[in-house]
Amino acid sequence: MMQQYIEDAEKSLLHTYNRYQIVLDKGEGVYLYDLDGKKYLDFVSGIAVFALGYKNEAYNEALKEQIDKLIHTSNYFYNVPAVEAAKKLKKASGMDRVFFTNSGAEAIEGAIKAARKYAFLKDGSTDHEIIAMNHSFHGRTMGALSVTGNPHYREAFEPGIGNIRFAEMNNFESVKALVNDKTCAILLETVQGEGGIYPATEEFMKNIRALCDEKDILLILDEIQCGMGRTGTMFAWQKYGVKPDIMTSAKALGCGVPVGAFLMTEKVGQNSLAAGDHGTTYGGNPLACAAVSKVLDLFEEQKILDNVNEVGPYLKEKLNELKEQYDFVRDVRGAGLMLGMELDRPVAPYIVKAQEKGLMLINAGQYIIRMVPPLVITRQNVDDMIAILKECLETVE
Ligand SMILES: *Cc1c(COP(=O)(O)O)cnc(C)c1O
Repeated sequence: MMQQYIEDAEKSLLHTYNRYQIVLDKGEGVYLYDLDGKKYLDFVSGIAVFALGYKNEAYNEALKEQIDKLIHTSNYFYNVPAVEAAKKLKKASGMDRVFFTNSGAEAIEGAIKAARKYAFLKDGSTDHEIIAMNHSFHGRTMGALSVTGNPHYREAFEPGIGNIRFAEMNNFESVKALVNDKTCAILLETVQGEGGIYPATEEFMKNIRALCDEKDILLILDEIQCGMGRTGTMFAWQKYGVKPDIMTSAKALGCGVPVGAFLMTEKVGQNSLAAGDHGTTYGGNPLACAAVSKVLDLFEEQKILDNVNEVGPYLKEKLNELKEQYDFVRDVRGAGLMLGMELDRPVAPYIVKAQEKGLMLINAGQYIIRMVPPLVITRQNVDDMIAILKECLETVE
């Protein structure tokens, strides 16, 4: 049955992904099922999206209730779920102003616009620069692509938005060398995701924050993948003792309903985007915001952060044991339940083998197996995963 759908898909969908030969059908807890009924332990969660696990009853009920009430209304009116979601998100992040978007890329677009407007209001010029990081990933729309530090993604689509410079993550001197009086923002992922699970060091973050304060440059942190509890705090930057001026969120923010957000401090809010400067038809609609609102409630009720802080280190310990056993495992890094295991060879065959054995994994670059499971996984799930992964490490040629 799967084969027919795969053939049909390849006739109808634009081929922008080399997809695995699996048609997923349903999910329950930390397990996915394909159309043939095969069960998979999921260490991908739709790429760091489905934090609460599949078929979470309270979450599903909240959505169903909202569907029957009101799914969409224009941003020219207020709606209750958006107000509640914004209040809860402010509380969780300590930021002051929220703009809801439909995706991560769109949150990045908004962050860039806010930074440019902030600088424009200061000196009236339009030649401001943004410093982003090599090996970063911020999304596929033109603005987000322009700040993505991977030339391979950008090449065919140049020119980008312009006035973007790239520095090295965790190399403060490389950032400082690019700063001039046109610099309006420094943008980075607190933990680089697609680039290979590279956390910012505390020293780097603190130095960047100090530099931004000194020169009135805005610090934009992309928390689209590493935020929402993934690394053990609600947002990854909260561990560093620094605070961004603008922050982006998406992925697990709605736990499956497409929604993102960019948030800012009151200072930036009062001195950047104003009425008429930015908008979206769907962004922050009642259905999406009912999801955000419920997700934030459930994070508290189900003590999601406690689970990440208990199971994350356990997972890391188990991965490090594998590193001790297999000399082709080069590194294990990351925080909480956002971990990468780097091999000295391409990981694709290992990922396919794991699928055969009922385990979903995903790569981050060619050499890194990325683990971003639902945040509700247990130690037992970790043990099950490790047993399968070990078999794969042993049997793949
Ligand atoms: C996924 C991702 C994005 C893009 O989000 P989309 O919803 O796919 O547009 C941006 N930044 C980071 C760090 C991401 O992981």
